[in-house]
Amino acid sequence: MGILSGKRAFIVGVATERSIAWGIAKAMHAQGAELAFSYQGEKLKERVVPLAQSVGSSITVPLDVGVDADIDAAYATLSSAWDHMDILVHAVAYAPREALDGGFTSATSREAFRVAHDISSYSFTALARGALPLMSGRAGAMLTLSYLGAVRSIPSYNVMGLAKASLEANVRFMAADLGPQNIRVNAISAGPIKTLAAAGVGGLRKMLAHVAEVAPLRRNVTTEEVGTAAAFLCSPMASAITGEILYVDNGFSTVGMSFAAGAG
Ligand code: NAD
Repeated sequence: MGILSGKRAFIVGVATERSIAWGIAKAMHAQGAELAFSYQGEKLKERVVPLAQSVGSSITVPLDVGVDADIDAAYATLSSAWDHMDILVHAVAYAPREALDGGFTSATSREAFRVAHDISSYSFTALARGALPLMSGRAGAMLTLSYLGAVRSIPSYNVMGLAKASLEANVRFMAADLGPQNIRVNAISAGPIKTLAAAGVGGLRKMLAHVAEVAPLRRNVTTEEVGTAAAFLCSPMASAITGEILYVDNGFSTVGMSFAAGAG
């Protein structure tokens, strides 16, 4: 019996088998959860449906988190298949590519700021609200994905850092609001991983190399490692943890200074 047996999880954010959401889905499946997935647009449907089937899921719904009618339709479909759900995973972020390269001040337009915050932060609130009827009377768990750029400046991460700061505040406000209903809300702040979304951030290769050189564990994290931490956070084993940002980054964020091997 896994730590999530008998639990139902809605996973938002699988694009490819490299997606962090896919690492989470695999770990939750391994721990006994029943899963449903969303996909953003027809092109990704072709990738997501077979992945869902490989973990025994036949529930896949189209969902652009920027469109309220899509959110309503996704939950209508889920409600026709499930009479309850226990876990919501939000692994979605987007900012226009031109905002994720070069200097922050000149790269950040009003429109890029609006879109980044809407898709990467507000969507968590909107998806959480939609999940409430299905989580009623359950010990619910909601999880989102953040990054160190929420609390430190990172080259090229730019407006996405501001959106992640908003997302982390979102976690705390929702945890306070939904705690009395026995719903926990947390985030994992993951170290950099080469995914479709991360490839849009200028200098990703340098970031990966730097982390591998100076993080205490001297390597990058994998989507599987984020997945097992997510399974724990959404399980009854984490029943007293809410409003928390858990770093899954090989310790990188804890270091004030570190010299690469051979340096100094
Ligand atoms: P990914 O490209 O595999 O996943 C991003 C997902 O966001 C995709 O499934 C995409 O379809 C979805 N998405 C974007 N805009 C959307 C919209 N309007 N409607 C619905 N879905 C939309 O990349 P990933 O790295 O797995 O990203 C997942 C989460 O992890 C993001 O929040 C990202 O910021 C966060 N994160 C990533 C890293 C990293 O280095 N890869 C590190 C820390 C946090």
